[in-house]
Amino acid sequence: MALANVWPLDLTTGQPTASSVPAMADAKSFVQFVKRYGPLPPRPEEQSLGLPGHRETFENPVAFGEIQLVLRSAWRGDNSAIDLIAAEDQETARDRWHLFLQNKAESAGIERKTFEGSPIEWSPADPIRARVSVGTNLEIVVEDLWSLIRLLFLQDHRGDRTRICNNEKCLAPYFVQHRRGQQYCGPDCATAVASRRYRQKVKKALKRLQQEERARAVDAMRDGKEGGNY
Ligand SMILES: [Zn+2]
Repeated sequence: MALANVWPLDLTTGQPTASSVPAMADAKSFVQFVKRYGPLPPRPEEQSLGLPGHRETFENPVAFGEIQLVLRSAWRGDNSAIDLIAAEDQETARDRWHLFLQNKAESAGIERKTFEGSPIEWSPADPIRARVSVGTNLEIVVEDLWSLIRLLFLQDHRGDRTRICNNEKCLAPYFVQHRRGQQYCGPDCATAVASRRYRQKVKKALKRLQQEERARAVDAMRDGKEGGNY
């Protein structure tokens, strides 16, 4: 949820955005995310040595923005993005990932930055990495943060719990529903929308009252004039 909700900068407008559009991570929120949760790819010490390029690529704000775009699109129900998250077809995963981002960039009218030239050992398009540990309890151990995020997302998506907050001004609209029919990410948004609607209703009622008042005043004036003719 946190990854979907970090605000990146829209690549066409340069403004922070919560929509699923091509974006690059805003440096400050990106650093905050990594500090709090760790990097998305496997930590360098868990990687075999001699992988030039992989760190700089995946600590790159544009790459982070692309990973986020795929997750946000999946959250909004885009089936091809959900396929990318599941990464079941390992042979074509990287190509399909590239194609998806290429299409998104084209429809936004921007050129996609690619990182060709540096060998990329780790790719967000790769299958979810996890191993099973059979102890007293059966445990699934995920090997990197991006794998964990995908597993959790898929679990919530299959359970029909991934939702977008109904408050159009919500700052963190991607949420997991905890009860059936939940429309808002939390009580703050529910209250904000309710009070916005209430204010609009009051405003409308006031306007109607004023119009009626004015109409009555005009009537009264006309009556007065007509009365004066007698
Ligand atoms: Zn909300």
